[in-house]
Amino acid sequence: MLLCVSCTKQQQSSVINVQWSFSGDTAYNYIAQQVAFGPRVPDTQAHQACGDWLISELQRYGIGVSEQHGTMMNYAGKPQAIRNIIGHIPGNTPTAILLCAHWDTRPWSDEEEDYDNRFTPILGANDGASGVGILLEIARQLQILRTTNQSAQIPTIDVIFFDAEDMGTPSHYTGKERENTWCLGSQLWSTLYQQTPVSQRTNYQYGILLDMVGDPSATFPREYFSTTYAGSYVELIWRTAARLGYGRHFVNQAAYPITDDHYYVNTIAGIPCVDIIDYKPQNGTGFAEWWHTQQDNMQNINKQTLQAVGETVITTICSR
Ligand SMILES: [Zn+2]
Repeated sequence: MLLCVSCTKQQQSSVINVQWSFSGDTAYNYIAQQVAFGPRVPDTQAHQACGDWLISELQRYGIGVSEQHGTMMNYAGKPQAIRNIIGHIPGNTPTAILLCAHWDTRPWSDEEEDYDNRFTPILGANDGASGVGILLEIARQLQILRTTNQSAQIPTIDVIFFDAEDMGTPSHYTGKERENTWCLGSQLWSTLYQQTPVSQRTNYQYGILLDMVGDPSATFPREYFSTTYAGSYVELIWRTAARLGYGRHFVNQAAYPITDDHYYVNTIAGIPCVDIIDYKPQNGTGFAEWWHTQQDNMQNINKQTLQAVGETVITTICSR
């Protein structure tokens, strides 16, 4: 999943124009509720039930929801059903912003040391649920803000929960190598977006992807594809984080390219999209020790980290 390294920087100023709230406690509970379904592996009952729950949560706040269904080829060349879930929060400014995370979890723990343990699905508290939990809380807060404060200037926000991000070729697979086996849901969404006439689709200014954003010691370097395709928004987000006092998470380092949902949003849909992802360059895999193992559980979710990421994202999208 890792290619080569480089970094560019651009300048952009920002002014906060509305007061927001964000609760790391609530985001934590949203993560625990997803994990309580068990692994959310596509084509399982837990996946279906969690997807239904995500929709009902958004609707409970009064947020309009649409589903996108389709089929993509998986790593073995077999059709994989996709269910992307999209919440629409209309704003009162001309700006539209995309927030996204993946809601599926990996069917295998293929980073487990013991070979026999590599065929068990992961719980995905960080890898999947953490980003979704923060976005549910942001959606809830924006909906409260727009319905209680008519004077607040809020952009239109679409929250997308992508399916089948973590269906990429397992390490034990010995069949024919295929490309683009990760991020199936975002590939589907981006392709359909690109095929929609410009006059009929939402013209997003930019997007933010959250992936693995709950670890107590999470570090988010400036990921290569993000700086390449959406450098001015990387600058805006990282500067916002520094101003809020969260520079220990949003570190000023460059990171290797990471194949994640934002890659396809950038390259297929053509929407500048930034990946906020916990990256550990000192580790052999590039990711935390629990990555794609049975340790990706609630023990590695921290409310302060959720607060840092949630505040940074909601402050950024409410800036102009
Ligand atoms: Zn993963």
